[in-house]
Amino acid sequence: MSSSIQEIERRHTSGVYPKRDIAIVRGEGAVLWDDQGRAYVDCVGGQGVSTLGHANPAVARAICEQASRLITCPEIFYNDRRAEFEALLVSLLPSNLRRVYLCNSGAEAVEAAIKFARLSTGRPKIISTVRAFHGRTLGSLSATFEPKYRDPFQPLVPGFSHVPFNNIAALEAAVDDQTAAVILEPVQGEGGVHPAQPEYLQAAREITAQRGALLIVDEVQTGFARTGKWFAVEHSSLMPDLLTMGKAIAGGVPMGAVGIADTVKNLAPGTHGSTFGGNPLACAAGIASLQEMQRLDLPRLAAEKGAYFKERLEEIHAPVIREVRGLGLLIGVELRTKVTPFLRALQAEGVLALPAGLNVLRFLPPAVISLEQIDFVVEKVAKVLWNGHALGGE
Ligand SMILES: *Cc1c(COP(=O)(O)O)cnc(C)c1O
Repeated sequence: MSSSIQEIERRHTSGVYPKRDIAIVRGEGAVLWDDQGRAYVDCVGGQGVSTLGHANPAVARAICEQASRLITCPEIFYNDRRAEFEALLVSLLPSNLRRVYLCNSGAEAVEAAIKFARLSTGRPKIISTVRAFHGRTLGSLSATFEPKYRDPFQPLVPGFSHVPFNNIAALEAAVDDQTAAVILEPVQGEGGVHPAQPEYLQAAREITAQRGALLIVDEVQTGFARTGKWFAVEHSSLMPDLLTMGKAIAGGVPMGAVGIADTVKNLAPGTHGSTFGGNPLACAAGIASLQEMQRLDLPRLAAEKGAYFKERLEEIHAPVIREVRGLGLLIGVELRTKVTPFLRALQAEGVLALPAGLNVLRFLPPAVISLEQIDFVVEKVAKVLWNGHALGGE
C-alpha cells in the first residue's frame, strides 16, 4: 500500500537513495512500525546506528533536557557536556587513545583521520584495502573501494591506493617512506562482512610503526559493542594511532569522532574544525548512550546474542547459502545469488535486513534484541531462503 508519505517523498527527494516501499514512523527496542501500524523486527538497525535500541528513555530524556538548556556551542569555547562526553569516551577507548576530535558523521571522522595522518607525517600516501568502505565524501570515497561509488566522481583525491584485504605480503610491499597511513576496517561491513585476521591487524601495526606511517582503524560500524567488545580492535589487543567512530556513538543523534594517540603530531589550533563538531546536544545524547551501554553491558549482550544468532543461521543449511560469517551482531549470510529479492521477501514477512555488496544478507540488529525476536528472524530467513527458487534466485 502506497501512503501519502511515500508520494510526497517521491516528489521531493533527491533520488540518490534506493527506497523500500514502507514509511517507518516509530521504534522501540528492536521493533519498528510503519505508518500502517505494521511491526518489523529491525535488523537494519539504522544501518548500524541503533545498537542501543530505538526510543531508549534515558537518551530521550538527555536530549530533551539539553535542548532546553543549550544546543549549540562551537569548540572555540569550553563546554560542560563536551568535557563530560570526552572523558567518558576516552575511558572506553583503547588506553593509548587519550584525545578525541568530535565531528558529525562517520565520513567526517574518516576525513579528519586522513588529514591528521598527512599533517602528522608530512607524507601524501594513504593505503586502504580492496572492498573497503570508509564513506562517500571525496576524501573518504578515495579510501572506499567500490568502483560503482567512485567512478562517476573522478578525479578523486590523489595519493590513495588499495591492497588486497588480509594479505600481509601486499601490505608489506605497499607501505613506503611516502606512506602517511594505512586505513583498515576490523570487519569490512559494507564490503560483505569480512573479518580481518588478527595476524593481519598485528602485521599492519608492525609494518606501519617500522616505516613511520600511522595506522587508522575505521570502527564507524564495528564500534560501541557491535562486535561483542566496545571496539573490535580489542579482539586482537590492537593499538591504532587513529580510530574513527560514528553510527552508534550518540544513540542515533548524528555524531562522529576520532580517537587520537600521542604518536599523532602537529594538531595545532586552526588546522581542522567543524561548526557543529562537539555540540552540546550530540554530546548529551552521547553521554546518555554510552552510560546506557555500560549499564546494560552492551558488549556482553552483543557477544551473546550474536553467537546465538549466528549459530541459528548456520542451522538453516538452505542450498542458496554459501557461508555464514561475522563477529558479534555484525553478521553476514553470503548467498550464491543476489540478495535483493530475499530482502523484499523478508520485509513482507516482518523482518528488515540489509545487503552488503550484491550477494550478502547483512544483519545489524540492536543488541537489546531478544532471543525470541532472533528466533522469529531466523524462522523467516529460513522460510525465504528455502523458497529461493520461487523468488527467482539461482
Ligand atoms: C557507515 C560507515 C562510514 C560512513 O559513515 P557516514 O556516517 O555514513 O558518513 C565509514 N566507515 C565505515 C566502516 C562505515 O560503516
